[in-house]
Amino acid sequence: MILATQRQEFVLVLFSEAFKYSIPPTNGMVVNKTEEEWKQELGPDRYKVLRKKGTERPFTGQLLHNEEKGVYTCGGCGTELFSSESKYDSGSGWPSFWTAMAKDKIKEIPDNSLWMKRMEVVCANCGGHLGHVFDDGPQPTGLRYCVNSMSLGFKKNQNETTASPKTA
Ligand code: FE
Repeated sequence: MILATQRQEFVLVLFSEAFKYSIPPTNGMVVNKTEEEWKQELGPDRYKVLRKKGTERPFTGQLLHNEEKGVYTCGGCGTELFSSESKYDSGSGWPSFWTAMAKDKIKEIPDNSLWMKRMEVVCANCGGHLGHVFDDGPQPTGLRYCVNSMSLGFKKNQNETTASPKTA
């Protein structure tokens, strides 16, 4: 006979396993590493966001107020995803872009979690979770790619850095 506490534990384990498998697999992605490899490479916080579809707390991201010219890359695999040209302040507390650098750099996946209908955005190369895309962005696209700062890297435009000191 199973005790009540054991039964509860069993239900919890089943629930967490079901949750794990509700996350779409990254099959078909160019970069395909094991969970252990990702954990080692990303560290706990980035792993939680990029591989477990977590969300960083708003207004905490290092790149939120970055206004430098350059390219935002995938924090998982380094693919160039967003240009600083399309970054804007959406007031949401997360870095926001009105377009990706190219349609094939990202993948959009319907996300019905948390009782909401949203469109998740992942890196097409490694499957890393970036954020969501909403249709309340500025023109010319009307889109808002709302992206976790922790899912991104940043490559400063080299031309900008060499040009600016001379004009100062
Ligand atoms: Fe990636």
